[in-house]
Amino acid sequence: MERNRERMAEVREKSRLARELMRLLPGQVRLDEPMKLHTTWRIGGPADLFVEPDGVAGLAQALAFARRENLPVTIIGNGSNLLVKDGGIRGLVVKIGGGFRWLNIQGSRITAGAGTGLARLTGAAKEAGVGGFEFLAGIPGTVGGAVVMNAGAFGKATSDLCASVQLMDETGRLAERPGAALGFGYRTSNLQGSKLIVVAAVFRGTYREPQAIQAEMEDLFNRRKKTQPLGCPSAGSVFQNPPGISAGFLIERAGGKGMRAGDAAVSPVHANFIVNLGNATARDVLKLIEQVKIAVREKYAIELKPEVQIIGED
Ligand SMILES: Cc1cc2nc3c(=O)[nH]c(=O)nc-3n(C[C@H](O)[C@H](O)[C@H](O)COP(=O)(O)OP(=O)(O)OC[C@H]3O[C@@H](n4cnc5c(N)ncnc54)[C@H](O)[C@@H]3O)c2cc1C
Repeated sequence: MERNRERMAEVREKSRLARELMRLLPGQVRLDEPMKLHTTWRIGGPADLFVEPDGVAGLAQALAFARRENLPVTIIGNGSNLLVKDGGIRGLVVKIGGGFRWLNIQGSRITAGAGTGLARLTGAAKEAGVGGFEFLAGIPGTVGGAVVMNAGAFGKATSDLCASVQLMDETGRLAERPGAALGFGYRTSNLQGSKLIVVAAVFRGTYREPQAIQAEMEDLFNRRKKTQPLGCPSAGSVFQNPPGISAGFLIERAGGKGMRAGDAAVSPVHANFIVNLGNATARDVLKLIEQVKIAVREKYAIELKPEVQIIGED
């Protein structure tokens, strides 16, 4: 009885918050939004409040609202490196998407909004004859997600290109920060776990013939097609590579290929990918992550660390 009353009060409070935020940001707010619609794994419980601001001013308003109401804020891009737990996310989820999808090319310098997809960035760089971005082709993230994760492939990383970023802090203040101050490392930056939001990034490439760029992008994309299960929902590599060795190799050698928990399975194509065969839950994926870690620990005494960001509640 008491629990029921509490739940009713929670529902009423959530509806009030949604109504107020909707008044501030019409057309940009959703209540109890299933996060599975916003992750490439197609997994994730509901976000209490979800907003996709239509630009910098809307983002600042959403953050001010969250501060006023004491709501925790979670930032997402394209959700291609996220495992959202089945209980969903409390507070406010802010998607940096359509309102931040723009880019501007001046010589070999490309400035892009944080919601710009990497496919658009690499396509525009190719058209303009700006090389250096080829390795990003085929990574399904946004500019913001790529900076925060220092996304990389084939020996290159976002840090090689990133000259500076524009950041917004939780009070809505904007500041520039040079790439050299972002603490970039292997799939990491000091923006992870901070409350700073990437609003835009400036990249520096080098002049290159568009045909040469196209040829390299095709070659890298074909390599991906051969070695990765691109047709199935996933979040790319689940684990970071331990120093000097590939996590996929370790998992395969430890008998990981074919392991399964519910509808989550270690891909037979690439052992560092866990694919959603249809109705996988975050619980399935977490169970499988544990199984894989145990198998690798027992065979190699190596502790695999997840590369995917695990957020939300059970
Ligand atoms: C098929 C496939 C292949 C992949 N291949 C690669 C690969 O080769 N190399 C690689 O590095 N990754 C790869 N990934 C993983 C993923 O695409 C990258 O990590 C990507 O950079 C994540 O970007 P996102 O916009 O999807 O970020 P999200 O997954 O939405 O978020 C990732 C993290 O960044 C934070 N974040 C996102 N946007 C912002 C922002 N604007 N401001 C502040 N914080 C933000 C989030 O809070 C979260 O902590 C692959 C994924 C898939 C599904």
